[in-house]
Amino acid sequence: MPSARMPLVVGNWKMNFDHLEATYFVQKLAWLLRDAHFDYNRCEVALMPSFTSIRNVQVLVEADRLKIGYGAQSVSVTNQGAFTGDVSADMLAQLKCKYVIVGHSERRKYHPEDDANIVDQVRAVLTAGMQPILCVGESMEERRQGIELDFAVGQVHDVTRDLSDEEASKLIIAYEPVWAIGTGLVATPESAQDAAKAIRTDLYETFGAKVADVSRILYGGSVTSKNAVELISQPDVDGFLIGGASLDPEELSNICRLT
Ligand code: PGA
Repeated sequence: MPSARMPLVVGNWKMNFDHLEATYFVQKLAWLLRDAHFDYNRCEVALMPSFTSIRNVQVLVEADRLKIGYGAQSVSVTNQGAFTGDVSADMLAQLKCKYVIVGHSERRKYHPEDDANIVDQVRAVLTAGMQPILCVGESMEERRQGIELDFAVGQVHDVTRDLSDEEASKLIIAYEPVWAIGTGLVATPESAQDAAKAIRTDLYETFGAKVADVSRILYGGSVTSKNAVELISQPDVDGFLIGGASLDPEELSNICRLT
């Protein structure tokens, strides 16, 4: 049975592109997708710029009525006050961000973002009316031990156990095995499907079909236009979180068309 879930392609630019480069990129991507008669009603596209470029992306999207979504790569868990360097969920919501990436493995590694902090970020994003894209996934060590599915499901469960059904239905999950991120080593379609299915089964057990059937589960880790078709043909893979390949507008537009 074809899935009722709208596929979602998210470009995670990480710490690339200043605001002028971001402006150029959005125009080019919009033009390429228009040229290819891309159907935005069939697949959703979103870009995650640096904080400094979000406003530019917003202005362009609104001025040209582009159907491209956007959001942020991280967020503070508090909403206001003496937190030098932090950006609040309300500030992002005011820029009409739709999504916020939470718990990316690079944030877990280079910043003190532990499970409790990630739960608080998810809550902050939901409270501000946006949708969290929660990143989970095992390292090579966990894969060697054969515990990758339990590990990823456990990371999801740490967050979802505190959520209501309504909150959980807004959560997007990105399964991103750490060993596949930026390495050129992509998960096989079967193992991406196994992980997405295990996560969906857990959502089903916690919240029932109403949440599990609508929740979008993305795959991330060395996605390119060469492997996208096989990955998206898996029944529980609903789209992609893309790093390196999202820095090239042609490549990203190709992935959008193939998804
Ligand atoms: P990659 O990054 O596509 O460059 O592997 C994915 C990510 O980190 O979200």
